[in-house]
Amino acid sequence: MKKFLKGLAALILLLLIAGFLYVQLIAVPGQDAKMNPVTDHAPYPVSETAQALHNQLYIADLHADNLLWRRDSTKRQSRGHVDLPRLRDGGVELQVFSAVTKSPRGLNFDGNDADAPDDITLLAKAQLWPLRTWNSIYERAAYQAQRLQKIEANPNNKLVIIRRASDLNQTDDILAGLLLTEGAHPLEGKIENIKRLYDEGYRAMGLQHFFDNELGGSLHGRSQAGLTDFGRQAVLEMRRQGIIIDVAHSSRQTVRDVLALTPDPIFISHGGTISHCPRTANRNLPDDILLEIAARGGIIGIGYFDGAICDISPKGIAKAIIDAVKLLGEDAVALGSDFDGTVTTSLDTSELAAITHELLALGMTEDTIRKVMGENARRFFAENLPQ
Ligand SMILES: [Zn+2]
Repeated sequence: MKKFLKGLAALILLLLIAGFLYVQLIAVPGQDAKMNPVTDHAPYPVSETAQALHNQLYIADLHADNLLWRRDSTKRQSRGHVDLPRLRDGGVELQVFSAVTKSPRGLNFDGNDADAPDDITLLAKAQLWPLRTWNSIYERAAYQAQRLQKIEANPNNKLVIIRRASDLNQTDDILAGLLLTEGAHPLEGKIENIKRLYDEGYRAMGLQHFFDNELGGSLHGRSQAGLTDFGRQAVLEMRRQGIIIDVAHSSRQTVRDVLALTPDPIFISHGGTISHCPRTANRNLPDDILLEIAARGGIIGIGYFDGAICDISPKGIAKAIIDAVKLLGEDAVALGSDFDGTVTTSLDTSELAAITHELLALGMTEDTIRKVMGENARRFFAENLPQ
């Protein structure tokens, strides 16, 4: 009997180990690959002229959720959209790394409950994030910043986290990373957490993600409310500290309240225009709000995903950029891929020259291409980061 029990215990232990290894080595990477796919495609055309131009460009992208996934981003990966080698292949100089910290089950653009079960809790556990992140949204933001800090700490990785405007003046071989929270729920309702996140390296904060939070209404929440009293206080404190405000995912009223509260330029890290793609009315902000953001020196990053621009092909991305320039002017438009943001894209970050090619083929001037591919983003951050 004793022998039998011993055997049974060993068997159970073996099954537990096998289960754990299955989840860690197969299920977790598989889920990542499934959630961040690139459509099958032959190499996209890039003319010699386009490639030569692309090679000279300063390229900046305003939104990638790369830090959410358990991958070694210092090495080339066969899944997802972004890692350091592929950023270099794409010629990227500045990448905004956003931190997703809470995501309601059944995610949609039309209406999410703030208290729906949270998928990031599940992801944090499945990916074996530190225990402190399992029940704290603040800690999830802190942890994702620390992941980028760890990459920065090894000089071989040639990555610098942008903390002040002068950090933007890097030599060509250094990749600049800027930290953004996707929604300000990591504050957990505490103003003092703005300073703590600033100290972790965050220089931009989205106010909402897919649900209403302590600061105000989300574009995809239930209330469609504006800023709360706490939201007003938080926005003013962010500005006082030199944190730039991102209103991607904020409700129309929240954005109007922010524009009334502070004269400072704000941005949309990833999105598109409803006039370019009418069925994105619940994902993108109306043209009049975009025009006001642009009028005060703000920028909008054009996403590469269906919910933002309708046609995700490189030509479709180029067309969305061209329409945004027509609407908002050539100084207000930038790239905002949403790479690794649980979206399907037609390319990964190594293939950005395909966008330059299509912009050129559709008749955009070299000067304007320079601006939308990165100079607008560089100018915006140079003007609005702490000096
Ligand atoms: Zn997003």
